Amino acid sequence: MLRFFFKSSFILLIALFLSGCATTFNPATGRNELIFINSPTEVAMGHNVREELLKNHPLSKDARLNAKVEAVGRRLASASDRQDVQYKFYCLEEKELNAMALPGGFIYVNSGLMRILNDDELAYVLGHEVGHVAARHIAKKIQANMAYQLILGVAFAGMGDSAGSSAQNVAQGVDTVYNLVSLGYSRQDEYEADRIGVKYSFRAGYNPYAALSALEKIKKAEGPDWKILGYFRSHPFADERIEALERAIPKITGAEP
Ligand SMILES: [Zn+2]
Repeated sequence: MLRFFFKSSFILLIALFLSGCATTFNPATGRNELIFINSPTEVAMGHNVREELLKNHPLSKDARLNAKVEAVGRRLASASDRQDVQYKFYCLEEKELNAMALPGGFIYVNSGLMRILNDDELAYVLGHEVGHVAARHIAKKIQANMAYQLILGVAFAGMGDSAGSSAQNVAQGVDTVYNLVSLGYSRQDEYEADRIGVKYSFRAGYNPYAALSALEKIKKAEGPDWKILGYFRSHPFADERIEALERAIPKITGAEP
């Protein structure tokens, strides 16, 4: 019976792959992509993960920071190529210099990071997170992880323990997504989110070169431990990203062909 369950879910997944599988053009990345987590599902996941996040990380009570993250965020949201989710921007009361995007467009910046950045630099940081959402990096990571878990399920089907309760599966799902988000992204996704972030901040009327000063400021503030602490733990490869942006910005702004 269990074997049958796993077999049928595997077949279902293959069917999803083949039917939903007409790939869709994503204007944010400029590529045709295979996405089978649709936007309402992504938003629902975001809601669950947000509850988990807010249990351990309080929202900031600083009215100035909250007004600022909303105002700058609103301009970035309207510059995004992806408009089928509602972007929401929040400031968390945390010293660590960090920012993150949950599935579905929920974007968080720590107060520690906001306090060292000017508006143009904040626009790059928010643009980068909007970029992760618009490029659907999160959905792609979840898909890859789900497929992996399903393959493991198929591999171990029939070996002892029967399938867990569905409540337990949901709880594990939230944990998995939360971990995926906090673990950060691949080098390729980071470069892509940087390019998209600069493009959106430029579109929204901010100085695109503020991306460079933002990264330099964060590196300096984090000191010699920047490789393991804060922003660059979840958004790694600082030096390479600064170099890549120095080459990319003139092309994004049209200053160079
Ligand atoms: Zn990132």
